[in-house]
Amino acid sequence: MTDAAILERPRLATADDYISVEARLGAKNYKPLDVVLSRGEGVYVWDVDGKRYLDALSAYSAVNQGHCHPKILEAMVEQAKKLTLTSRAFRNDQLALFYEEICALTNSHKALPMNSGAEAVESALKVARKWGYQVKGVPADRAEVIVCSENFHGRTLAIVGFSTDDQARGGFGPFAPGFKVVPFGDAGALEAAITENTVAFLVEPIQGEAGVIIPPAGYLKTARELCTRHNVIFILDEIQTGLGRTGKLLAEQHEGVEADLTLVGKALSGGFYPVSAVLSNDEVLGVLKPGEHGSTFGGNPLACAVARAALRVLVEEGMVENAARVGERLKASLAGIRHDAIKEVRGRGLMLAVELHAEAGGARRVCENLQRRGLLCKETHDHTIRIAPPLILTDDQADWIAEQFDAALRD
Ligand SMILES: *Cc1c(COP(=O)(O)O)cnc(C)c1O
Repeated sequence: MTDAAILERPRLATADDYISVEARLGAKNYKPLDVVLSRGEGVYVWDVDGKRYLDALSAYSAVNQGHCHPKILEAMVEQAKKLTLTSRAFRNDQLALFYEEICALTNSHKALPMNSGAEAVESALKVARKWGYQVKGVPADRAEVIVCSENFHGRTLAIVGFSTDDQARGGFGPFAPGFKVVPFGDAGALEAAITENTVAFLVEPIQGEAGVIIPPAGYLKTARELCTRHNVIFILDEIQTGLGRTGKLLAEQHEGVEADLTLVGKALSGGFYPVSAVLSNDEVLGVLKPGEHGSTFGGNPLACAVARAALRVLVEEGMVENAARVGERLKASLAGIRHDAIKEVRGRGLMLAVELHAEAGGARRVCENLQRRGLLCKETHDHTIRIAPPLILTDDQADWIAEQFDAALRD
């Protein structure tokens, strides 16, 4: 076939067509549910056969604002017509506005724009090390960063190197040194691990990928105090918990703490485009000088315009408050389901999880049953089902989700 003929072949038709081509040509680094989606609007998505589903994953919380939010779409289209990429070799007229708005909203002094979440994490680790050498006076190449067991911070080599998940790290070494792992939620273990060379403590306010694990009350506050006392940078990875997901703009607000570095991504674009950022106090990001860090796409005008609109609709349309209110309602309804298979219902805002007893037989099977009922959820590990719909969820939709769970468990 000529190149042109390849491109003109008939489109794939059925879900099975798409699935078999993916199986043949794609790297098999995911095991998705067999649903092939072609359209989304608000909390709903439609598959290639026209069947509608309520999306209770929201692309791992990247679509907090709902699918294809019209105001974010408009901002994206308008900006795409004007200017998409300049690189940071030149300036553009969106970046300064993005800085102003995100810093004001999150009470930050400075921001560093990147693209994926993993890049924001990597950037934070780099600046924390540089700060350690330049400001704290740690001897060259001796900086230590403390992280938590069961963490999820992304998929780059440095990050998987300090993962405790065998699937994430096995077979990918050798890894970068300079990381220490302590149990999540254990402030005593954190304090014991701090040395004079510790530059940072990196933690998720609620561990999402681990299965929506909430630390003991007061943990973040104590961690903040320990970091201040020992001159250690407190880094909160809010890539999943941030931007309204837990019922506050940032999850740190539940304990009234402020991190030195806060990482946001995912919903920062409402799902339109990869946009992430490191939010900082003056001192830490202040250590970076021209040429020491960068990204071709980071801070581009299309990303900034999209992120500005994504932040604006979160606030203006009351999505954060809605997540708090509807999240409580949904959690209560799920907790009210009487079924032997359920071990625990937990979460905050619209970051919820139902954990099944190990012997109950597989969260995956429940997710497949929910899929037939028109509800898309994803299992994390074998026994936990995460429920994280867009933050625009209504009361009726929340009640409907709980009904589907009840029915699926009874099957
Ligand atoms: C998703 C996620 C990341 C990584 O983001 P990517 O955009 O996939 O690189 C990092 N930290 C947390 C807590 C996440 O949920």
